[in-house]
Order: sequence, then C-alpha cells, then structure tokens
Amino acid sequence: MSKKRLVIALGGNALGNTPEEQLELVKETAKTIVDLAEDYDVIIGHGNGPQVGMINNAMEFSSVNGGKTPYMPFPECGAMSQGYIGYHLTQSIQKELKNRKIDKEVACIVTQVVVDKNDPAFLKPTKPIGSFMSKEDAEAIAKEKGFVFVEDAGRGYRRVVPSPIPVRIVELNVVEQLVKLGDIVITVGGGGIPVVETECGLEGVAAVIDKDRSSAKLALDAKADMLVILTAVDRVAINYNKPNQESLAEMTVEDAERYIKEGHFAPGSMLPKVEACLDFVRKTENGMALITSLARAKEALKGETGTIIKK
Ligand code: ADP
Ligand code: MG
Repeated sequence: MSKKRLVIALGGNALGNTPEEQLELVKETAKTIVDLAEDYDVIIGHGNGPQVGMINNAMEFSSVNGGKTPYMPFPECGAMSQGYIGYHLTQSIQKELKNRKIDKEVACIVTQVVVDKNDPAFLKPTKPIGSFMSKEDAEAIAKEKGFVFVEDAGRGYRRVVPSPIPVRIVELNVVEQLVKLGDIVITVGGGGIPVVETECGLEGVAAVIDKDRSSAKLALDAKADMLVILTAVDRVAINYNKPNQESLAEMTVEDAERYIKEGHFAPGSMLPKVEACLDFVRKTENGMALITSLARAKEALKGETGTIIKK
C-alpha cells in the first residue's frame, strides 16, 4: 500500500537568519523531516522572509553604492533564496538519510507560482521588503522605478510589494513525478516565485506569496492526506499570551471560523496558518491539517501534541 502523503510547511524557526545559523538549524529540521519520511511521503514548502530580504538588500546595496553589480529584480532574488535554502535543506536531509541508511533521493525544485494580475492585492501592497531609507531616497526611487514605499513605524521608508493569492503551481507535475518515485521534494520556497501569465508566457512579478497559503494550495493540488504546518509553538491557543490562554488539541472548521472572528489569531503570524488549514480542510473530503512545532512534529502525528483542524 502506498504511504500517506504529507505537505509540510516550514517556518522561520526551521531556517534562522544567517547562513551559519541556517546550516546549524537545518540539521535539526532534517531530523524531523526524515522522521516523518520514514512513515509518509513528504513534500516540503518553506518560508524565505529573512533570506530573500538579505539577498535583496545586498543586491540593492551593491547596485546603488558604487554600482558594481547590475540591478537584481525581486523575483530573481526569490529564485536565489529558493536555491540557497534548498541547498542547505537538501544537504542536511541527504546526510540524515545516509546516517539512518535510508535509500531515498532529495530534490529541490525552483518553483514558480502563477498569480492573477487582477488580484486586488496588487492595488494595495502590504509586504515590506528591502532596506530602510530616507523619504528623499524613497521618493526618487519611486519616481524612477514606480516602486511603492511606506513609512515603517518611525524607522524610515521601506518598499512594499503585494501579497496575492496562489492560483497555480507551475512545476506541480514534476513534484508529483518525483514523489511517486519516493523522493523527498522541496518546493514552493518562500511561497513560490510569483509569475503572471502574459501573451509571451510567464513573467516574474515583484510580490510575495504567503508560504502558508502556497503550502495549502500545494497540499490540495498534490492531493495530500494532511497539511502539516511546523512553526515555533506546539499548539494553537485561544486568548494567546493572556492569563486565560488555552491550548487547543483540535478545532473544527466552525470552531476556527468563530475564533478568527473573535480575533484569537494574530494577523501575519498565526492567522494565515489557520486560514491555510481551513482552506485545505474545507476543499477536501477527509483532509486534515495540523499545526505544531518543528521539535514535536513526530509526537504530534501520533496525536500526542499539536492542533488538528478537521471538518
Ligand atoms: P513562521 O515563521 O513559522 O511562519 P510566525 O512567527 O509567522 O511563524 O507565526 C507563528 C507564531 O504565531 C507563534 O510563534 C506565536 O508567537 C504566534 N501566535 C499568534 N497568535 C497565536 C495563537 N493564537 N496561538 C499560538 N501562537 C500564536
Ligand atoms: Mg509566518
């Protein structure tokens, strides 16, 4: 019988902020992934906030100050981040597989995700990227390149890009073929490289697709049995950070909808995760979603911790 299929979304705590930190942290991440890959077919999605920020800032700095390198567009920075993170993850997973004498291949797919150019998000960019700058510099660049800048909490001006919803994962069939061969596949890094359909084919756009949303889309399209979102907390809570905080072992779709209305999940952190899980669970017959910590993922899949979201 074929194994059950998991789509695992890795958060910031699985990767860290610098190359050294990342290489160290992915050793632990790899152990968790291989634990799960012993029992399930595994497809991995991951975030890239700090990494694409770092690449974009470095590229921007080097092309402006002294002009030593060409200007690097944002989608290209996203592609670089997929390669850099995928390289670290692949290497660590390969090593862990070898240690355990498991015969499996690991593949990282540079992945594009189609977004709708009429997505309302394009009218209201919200995701800050790049370095802080003065009002004058921001205005000059806005005029020259048409970028949008916002003042960020008194720290200066920062470019913002839209966060459209994922419509189609371009490399989905490749992912499917590799998973069928039993490989561990890394895809939709940073939510995927956002592209739009044009008369001349696909074209990259400066945007950030939420990685939890893309992982839910991946779980749906790859017909996963479960979407597993691994983050920094063991369980989702209501009244989070309040004296009456209560951790949840499970939520039905209706529970989750009510908690969202009551404002229990912080926008930009837990809310997109719960929404991604809802999207997956609502659109599947028996699909379940799990939110838990990277460290306790194995226990969570046995029902010992974590928050299950189900119909
Ligand atoms: P990731 O990098 O994994 O996407 P985020 O920081 O975006 O992680 O989101 C996870 C964080 O959400 C948790 O570490 C926690 O601090 C925060 N959080 C906000 N609301 C809740 C809640 N209701 N229950 C649990 N954690 C919450
Ligand atoms: Mg997040």
